[in-house]
Parts: sequence; structure tokens; C-alpha cells
Amino acid sequence: MPELPDLTIVAEAFHGALATRPILSAEATAPLAVRGTPAELSALSGQRVTSIRRRGKFLILELDRDRLVVNPMLTGRFQLAPAATKHPTKTALVVRFGDQAARPPDAAPWTSGAEWLPAPDARPEIRYRDPTQMGKVYLLPSGVERPVPGLGEGEIGPDADDVGLTLDVWRTRIRRHPGELKNLLRNQSFVAGIGNAYSDEICHAARLLPLRKRSTLADEEVDELYAATRRTLESAIATLRVRVPPTFEAQVRDFLAVHLKGGQACPRCGTRVSELKPGGFVTSFCRGCQH
Ligand SMILES: [Zn+2]
Repeated sequence: MPELPDLTIVAEAFHGALATRPILSAEATAPLAVRGTPAELSALSGQRVTSIRRRGKFLILELDRDRLVVNPMLTGRFQLAPAATKHPTKTALVVRFGDQAARPPDAAPWTSGAEWLPAPDARPEIRYRDPTQMGKVYLLPSGVERPVPGLGEGEIGPDADDVGLTLDVWRTRIRRHPGELKNLLRNQSFVAGIGNAYSDEICHAARLLPLRKRSTLADEEVDELYAATRRTLESAIATLRVRVPPTFEAQVRDFLAVHLKGGQACPRCGTRVSELKPGGFVTSFCRGCQH
């Protein structure tokens, strides 16, 4: 499942590549994945992209007038490709873009001059592909009220990497959540963007067991969980900026310390990594250095 670091890379890259371009066409090749009408989909043509950004585990395309929100869920992935090349199977949505008048001034610095950036007069496409069709694309025309589950009032907390999420804010927000740390980190109403993989990584970085209850943490452990959250996400983003482009549909996870590394040596203490799989849902951790 794409999480905050994965979608941050996609959002930054797509913003640099596509902002200021007009949409030439949008086609729902798997209409069930799209929440909106065919008329609303055609009305995207001609609108320019003002920004592409991430919020929690959603990717948001802001246009002149309307907005497109994608919740990729488990298996949704985004490809940036030249027009007229073959679409991958299970493609649910294809959006074609025209010329880029100017690179957006607020593009992430790492994207500027990148080899994978389409030329200004290229006609790139985004293909949104989802083999399980669990994800959804929401068309949000200006003036139309269409709820997006997970983005509603009270459903989504601050992004885990939001500058406004200071240590003080973290200490206050975490008081409402007495339960297991892994569930707490994955709770989007607490902080947004963290899922199964990065919750394991953050617990490992904080040297805390994922099934440990927050109510048992000392004050300094609460603070360490905050520091580990910031450090883990920041470091993953830096790695993915190098590793992911131009294959934005790939999910790069091999550099993680413990998640899905059951049986391998913990990179910090050498103990074999433990793995629990209740209902096929994997939790990985190290009994040697997490307490
Ligand atoms: Zn260890």
C-alpha cells in the first residue's frame, strides 16, 4: 500500500512534470473505479493543473476549477509515461496532458533538471492502475458536494511530516490513544500517511515494540516515538527520491530495516527479526532491541 513516503515522491515528481499543463483528455478505462459522471470526467479537458500534492494517503490534483482525488488503497499505482505507449493491464484511468508553458516555480528542487522530466512540448500521460480495483478516483467538480471517505471532518489528522505537528502537538494528540503503538501510528485521525510498513519501521527506529500500549510509555518514550516518526519518514523520502524515478509505479521497500524481513538479521543488533501475521496482516519487529 502506498504510504506517505511513496506518495510524496509521486506528488513531487508529478507536480514538477505536469503543473501548468492543460488536460487534453481523461478516460476511465475501468469506470467502476471512478466516483463521478462521464460528463464530469469530460469537463476536465482544457483545465490546467495548478498543483499536485499528497494529503495522508491520498493524491490530489488541483485544476483551474475542479479537483481530482485518488485513494489508491492497497494496490493502486501511478505511472508517468509518454503518450501512445502501451497501457499496463488493469489501468483504471488515463489522463493526457498538453504542453508545459513553464516549470512550476514551487517544484521540489530535486525534480528540477531530472532526466525523467517530460520535455515541455511532450504529451505525457498519467495512468492510474489498480489490479484489485479497491482504490477510488473521486471527481470533485467545483460546486459539487461529494464526500471522500477518509478525508472528511474528524477523519484525518495532521500529516505525519507536517511542520505544524510539533512535539507539543504530538504529546497532546497522543493522550487520546491509549492502545497499541502500531495501531496508533496507522490511525489516520491521529496522524495521516502511515500504514503497515512504516508503522513497523517507526517502532523499530524508536526501539519500541509495535504491540506495546501507549498507556505504558514513559514521557521520554512518547517523545522518542515522535522523533523516530520524523526521522524514519524523512530518511525514506530521501532514499525514494533516488530509487523510484522514473518508475513511479514501483513500490521500493527493500531498504526497510524490519518490515517483511522476518527471519533476517536485525540491522541494529543482529537478532532475527520476528513476524506476526494475524489474518495475513504482517507485523515485523526485533525482540533484541525493541522493548
Ligand atoms: Zn534488533
